Parts: sequence; C-alpha cells; structure tokens
Amino acid sequence: MATPLKPSAQPRKAGASSSRKPTAARLRVILQFLGAARCVTGSKFLLTLTQGTTRRQVLVDCGLFQGLKELRLRNREPLPLVPAEVDAVVLTHAHIDHCGYLPKLVQDGFRGRIFCTEPTADLLSIMLLDSAKLQEEEADFANERGYSSHHPATPLYSQADVLNVLPLVESMGYDAPISLFDGALSLNFREAGHILGSAIAEVTVQGPEQRKRWCFPATWAGIIAP
Ligand SMILES: [Zn+2]
Repeated sequence: MATPLKPSAQPRKAGASSSRKPTAARLRVILQFLGAARCVTGSKFLLTLTQGTTRRQVLVDCGLFQGLKELRLRNREPLPLVPAEVDAVVLTHAHIDHCGYLPKLVQDGFRGRIFCTEPTADLLSIMLLDSAKLQEEEADFANERGYSSHHPATPLYSQADVLNVLPLVESMGYDAPISLFDGALSLNFREAGHILGSAIAEVTVQGPEQRKRWCFPATWAGIIAP
C-alpha cells in the first residue's frame, strides 16, 4: 500500500499561492548592566530590542555614581550607547543614584520619553536641581581654591540642563500598564515601599516567538524575577 504523502510533500499546483505565512523577524533582546555593578550607585540597565532593521532602546534607571572619587569619575566616562538613539528612560525612584545622570544624558542628546510614577515626577525636579546646584557650587569652590586638575573645573551638568529634562517626563499610576513600540514592550509600576513614589518596574517584552519579563527593583540594583 502506498504511503500517503505528508502535507508538506504534496505537489503544489502551478500558480497556487503558499498557505504558509511568512515568519515575522525574530525579536532579539539584550540586557546590559551599565552601572551599580561592584558598587551600589550609578544604576543603569540598557534594554535593546532588535527586530529586522528596527532597534529600540530603553534605559531603566539613569543614576549617578556617588561616593569615592574613582566612582564619581565614572560619571565623566562616555556610556556605551548613543543618547539620541535611546527611545525611553524608566525610573524606579528619585534617589540620585537612580536618576541623577538624566541631565547629562539630555545634555548629550537624549530626547526620548521618561516614565516614572507621579510622586517620583514631583520629587525629580527637586532632586535634580539640588544635584546640579551642588555640582555648580563645588566647581566654583574648586576654581576659587585652584585644587582641581581641570582648568576651569566644570559641573557635570547645570541647573539649566535640568530644566531640559523635566518636559520629557511622563508620570504613570501604579498598576496602570502602558504599551510601547506597537506592543513589543509593556511597562507597569508596582509599589516598592522604598521612598515616596518608588516602584518596581515590571517590563515585559513580547516578540513573535518569545515573551520575557523583568522586574527592576527600586531598592537595590539587580533583577529579582526572570
Ligand atoms: Zn533608593
């Protein structure tokens, strides 16, 4: 008895179109740790989504390195990204080691959207203006006393730079997820209990073949759930 042909082996009629749908381009996801590694400040996680020729980048937290001089000097080093090509920043909370690099990112060309909770948005202007003022005063003092190796000493960013950050901020409620990039990424803030406005940023990436979820905690650098 002849063995029936498998469906895939059936001869196709000339001119008949294939019923097979073209496979959507695979979504490639890369997560990089750009700070808060071997230290607790400078929190920055870069999520890069690539599908076909389209690339999207989201920075979760944009913190300043603080503490010892060798850490603070890292704020002057270029990041392994092009700020103008970053689509969005997600902030877990308003402590400077999680948001204090934002004015520098904007100074260097970032013009994307900044997502955070409403209380974080309120605190952000206070925290960033204070950070800029301290840096301006420190630079002035170093120039007066002449102890800086840079002539003149300059702040990492100014209060004017902070004013360029604030219009980019979009506040969200807790447990009110939003969808970005035609549904490729969704963002939800959950209460974290760290400081006013702090949130666990739940980021879900949905591709044609895979679904991934990360929870970025507000209280420490790291990922608590795959
Ligand atoms: Zn904190």
